[in-house]
Amino acid sequence: MPGFELFGEAERKEVNDVLDNGVLMRYGFDGMRKGHWKAKELEAELETAFKTQHVQLVSSGTAAVSVALASAGVGAGDEVIMPTFTFVASFEAIMMLGAIPVLVDIDDTLTLDPKAVEAAITDKTKAVMVVHMCGSMADLNELQDICNAKDLILVEDACQAIGATYEGKPLGSVGDLGCFSFDFVKTITCGEGGAVITNNKDYYINADHYSDHGHDHIGNDRGAETHPFLGYNFRISELHAAVGLAQVKRLPEFLEIQRKFLKIFQETLSQIPEITLRTVPEGGVESGAFFNFFLPNIEITRKVIQAFKENGIDACWNYYDNNWHYIRKWDHLKDLKSLFPISEEVKEGLSYLQTKSFEQSDHFIGRNISCLIKLSWTEQEVKDRADKMAEIIKSVLS
Ligand SMILES: *Cc1c(COP(=O)(O)O)cnc(C)c1O
Repeated sequence: MPGFELFGEAERKEVNDVLDNGVLMRYGFDGMRKGHWKAKELEAELETAFKTQHVQLVSSGTAAVSVALASAGVGAGDEVIMPTFTFVASFEAIMMLGAIPVLVDIDDTLTLDPKAVEAAITDKTKAVMVVHMCGSMADLNELQDICNAKDLILVEDACQAIGATYEGKPLGSVGDLGCFSFDFVKTITCGEGGAVITNNKDYYINADHYSDHGHDHIGNDRGAETHPFLGYNFRISELHAAVGLAQVKRLPEFLEIQRKFLKIFQETLSQIPEITLRTVPEGGVESGAFFNFFLPNIEITRKVIQAFKENGIDACWNYYDNNWHYIRKWDHLKDLKSLFPISEEVKEGLSYLQTKSFEQSDHFIGRNISCLIKLSWTEQEVKDRADKMAEIIKSVLS
C-alpha cells in the first residue's frame, strides 16, 4: 500500500516548485507563487481520479472525517453509526463534534453489517459512517437504501481503500461524502493530508470554509474576507499537497501493481480448503492494498500469525489483538479517559459500551489475517512469499 515506497523524481520536482517560490500556504500570496497552486491542482486531479464534482483537501484523514460530518451538519448529541473494526480516527472525528459514536458489528466483508446498522438506528441517528477497511468495501447499495429510507447521511471513509470501486464508481463517491487519508502509510501519501469529496455543492462550500477558520475565499485579499460561520484550521500546506500531486498521477500504476499481487496471493492461498477469502460485495473491485482471509478459528489464526513472524513473513496482522483498529482494546474509549470534561450527553450516549459485547465482530476479526501488499516487491518475491505463507499455514493446520 504505502506510496512512499516508490518516491522519486516526480515527488522531488513538485516539492522543489514550492520551495523555489517559498509560498508554503495554499491560499493567497498570488503574486509570489509563479503560478504554482499545488493544493488546487491536487484537488482537480482528485476530482478526476475519484469521479466526483468537489474535493476539499485537509490536513489529515481524521480531519477529513470530522470536516465531512460537520459539513453535513452533524453535531452535539447526534448519533453516528460506525463499525467496531476501523481505526480510532472514526470515533475521534465523531466525538470532536460532540456527537455520539454508535458502534455496530461488521460482517464477512470486514465492514459494516447492514442488518446491524438497521438495528442501531434511533431517532437521534443522523449519519452512517461506513469504513472500507483493508482495500475492500461494504455493501453500499444496501447501506444507501437504509440511509435513503431513514433520511440519514452516508459518509464513506475510504482511507484504506483508495482506488477500489463499487459498480464502477470509486469508493468515496457513492455516499453523500467520502473521506481519504494521505498520511505516510496510505496508497497515496502527502506525508500528512486528507480529502473530503462530495457531489453536494453546499457540503463542499461548508467544508471549504470550515477547514479554514470560516474564510469565504471570495476575492484575493484574505484579510478582507468574511466569515459566514465558525470554522477551525484543518488546512493542508503546499509542501504536503506537492508530494500528493506527484503521487496521485501514479495511482493507476500503484493500483495495477497492488491488484496483480493480490491475485497471486488469492490464487495461491485459496487452494487451502480451510481458508476462506474475505467477501467482496457484488460489483466491487478491491484496491489490492491488502490481502485478507479467514482461518477456521482464533487459536489457529494466532498460531499462523506467530509462525509467520518466526519465518520472516512481516506485515500480516490479526486485528483481534490490535490496540488501534478493533473495539476490544479501546479501553480509553470505554472508560472515557479524556483530558477534558466530556458532555453528559456523550457520556450517557456511550454508556452502552460498558456492557455491550460484539460476538459477531469477534467471530470475523478473531479469524481474519490481513496482509499489507507492498508496491516495492517484485512479482517473483510475491510468488515466493505466497508459497511460503501457504506452506506455513499447512504446517500449522496439520
Ligand atoms: C489512516 C486512517 C484514518 C486517518 O487518517 P490520518 O490521516 O492518519 O488522520 C482514518 N480512517 C482510516 C480507516 C484510516 O486507515
